[in-house]
Amino acid sequence: MSKFPSDKPVLVTCGLPYVNGKAHIGHLRTYIPADIFVRSMKKQEQEVVFVCGSDTHGTPIVVNAEQLNTTPGELVRKYHKHFDNTFKKMNVNFDAFGTTDDPENHNRTLDIVSKLIEKGYTYPKTIEIAYCPGCKRFLPDRYVQGICPHCGETARGDECDQGCEKHLESGELKDPKCIVCGENAEYREQEHFFFKLSEFRDFLLEYLENLEGTSNARNYAIGWVKQELMDWCITRNLDWGVKFPGHDKLVVYVWVDAPIGYIAFTEEWAEANNGDWEKFWKGDGRIIHFIGGDITYHHCIFWPAMLKGAGYSQPWAVVASGMVKIEDKTFSKSRGYVVWVGEDYLDHGFHPDLLRYYLVSYTSHTKELNFSWKVFQKKINTELVAVFGNFLYRTLLFAHRNFGEIPVGEIEQDVLDNIDSTIAKVNEAMEQYEFKKAVDFAMALASYGNVYFQSKQPWKLIKEDKAACGKVVANCIQIAKALAILFEPVLPQKMEEAWAQIGMSSDIHVTTYRDATVLVNSGTTLVEPVTLFEKIQDDKIESMVNISNTRVAEALAKESGTKEIEVKDMETEKEKEKIIENENEINKINEEITFDDFSKLDIRIGIVVTAEPVKKSNKLMRLEVDIGEETPRQLVAGIKETHDPEQLIGRQVVVLANLKPAKLCGVESKGMVLAGDIDGAVLLMPEKNVEAGTRVR
Ligand SMILES: [Zn+2]
Ligand SMILES: [Zn+2]
Repeated sequence: MSKFPSDKPVLVTCGLPYVNGKAHIGHLRTYIPADIFVRSMKKQEQEVVFVCGSDTHGTPIVVNAEQLNTTPGELVRKYHKHFDNTFKKMNVNFDAFGTTDDPENHNRTLDIVSKLIEKGYTYPKTIEIAYCPGCKRFLPDRYVQGICPHCGETARGDECDQGCEKHLESGELKDPKCIVCGENAEYREQEHFFFKLSEFRDFLLEYLENLEGTSNARNYAIGWVKQELMDWCITRNLDWGVKFPGHDKLVVYVWVDAPIGYIAFTEEWAEANNGDWEKFWKGDGRIIHFIGGDITYHHCIFWPAMLKGAGYSQPWAVVASGMVKIEDKTFSKSRGYVVWVGEDYLDHGFHPDLLRYYLVSYTSHTKELNFSWKVFQKKINTELVAVFGNFLYRTLLFAHRNFGEIPVGEIEQDVLDNIDSTIAKVNEAMEQYEFKKAVDFAMALASYGNVYFQSKQPWKLIKEDKAACGKVVANCIQIAKALAILFEPVLPQKMEEAWAQIGMSSDIHVTTYRDATVLVNSGTTLVEPVTLFEKIQDDKIESMVNISNTRVAEALAKESGTKEIEVKDMETEKEKEKIIENENEINKINEEITFDDFSKLDIRIGIVVTAEPVKKSNKLMRLEVDIGEETPRQLVAGIKETHDPEQLIGRQVVVLANLKPAKLCGVESKGMVLAGDIDGAVLLMPEKNVEAGTRVR
């Protein structure tokens, strides 16, 4: 039974791209599965509308525009166009793609915020806002940088982005500085408006129990609601944005007007297509949000509460994707672990459909996806080329050469049954947002086709019994037809070509799954086929790997460059050299050593007994570590910036015990605590607690 009854139209949305930079593969992780889902819904004959748009407001855009010496309007227009083009090139077909700065969104936001005010769901409160005396202005969110009150890391006004990742309310940040002029900011009192999120606790608990979509989104959200619901400050001191009703100097927080964009874009679609937006937002049409897992809180808590408060329908499902890694490294633009959709992929002549295939067939939608050029090559060559492409090409080439048309021949029940059951399985997987499963089921039908072709040996039959051979070929073309329909959601452009190659004149994008078992027409002329999927050669992949390695190396060099400047306030010249050396050596494997060399290292597990910052230093911490000797060892480690003394005491660490003692900032260190040198020190720790002094080999 389908989970999607035909009397309930479906609205699918995608998390809005924030338009202050270029599109990368991380973005596509949400948009491509959503597009595939929408195409599959259409194949199930479901009424579905697919909208999205650019997120144009908020401080990052204002800050970025200021730094680039342009206006927020110019900046967002440029990147809005860029995203719109990228989506089109990647065959992501929205029914409407607007911006949150469109008049529709300004109006809808005003309507919703006014309703919340009317119903008493907002209240004014005087809070402390960072103010720059130099620039003479209030500093919202990212305009201000300082120290996180929770973990001590460098953080920005609204979020501890480099440390504990907590959301920060205005006034919480310590030592605030203006990011424009660098001057110390001061806190000044100002009146802002809050949304009474805490009043929606009971509503949310019940709502979330019934929320469809992926369980990761629902479960996280339920956990958060059960913990604590804080009221949200929903106004900011900016000019750029949607004005808060009745207050000229305030705009609404970007997380208010961004999701309201979903409604505005549905209105834009309705306007252009004579459709009805209210059947989703005020009726019982189903709203499905595809989002990145990192914005679950906003979509599962804040957004439904706001809709409920203003008297709108709430999302029926939230589908959250897992994160993206690049070559097994955490995605990071500044570190060079990024693949840009344009310059790193499309511009090198790679077909958009291949990336679509990779993104859904690599792993389940909620899991972490790794993009690796070598894995990409392997998947394309062994799956699309060797299985699916091979079946299509050998079938169509054989048919074209020996018949020139679709030959007469009864389609076997077994073939039809196999197609039917594949459709049922693909359907079910799609309805569960299990896109990888759906692709695997479809690919299994291609394998079945290959086995069928091989076992019937048409190349022999053609000499012995042309009619029997014709029947085999007709069956293979029936399978090819079904495959084209089943793969259209994933490979829309390629399947358009396949469709023409099997002699179809209709538009494959409007075919339905039911068409897959409609018998092929014998006598249809077949053109000479061309291979749909070309093998990706090693040298092509090597050149792509080189590009990405160069980018990482450049990012590293740039970073050591900036480190060099910071080094001025560091302890010794030696330390500076060590840091730069380390940075350069991250990529390169050191010279080989023998086992004898290795066994000279005395590495042990120790327990931290004492930890205290070295006063004269910014970076160093003095530790006493029990490594199974009579008295604990004194060690000095460069972890002051990354670790609190209290969190270290009692923890197990790995110590190089026979390193020649050295004085650091006047404190002797007899050995070294081992750490991974990424983004500050990451201490090595044993998998489970072991006795102090345990040797590491
Ligand atoms: Zn300033
Ligand atoms: Zn923090």
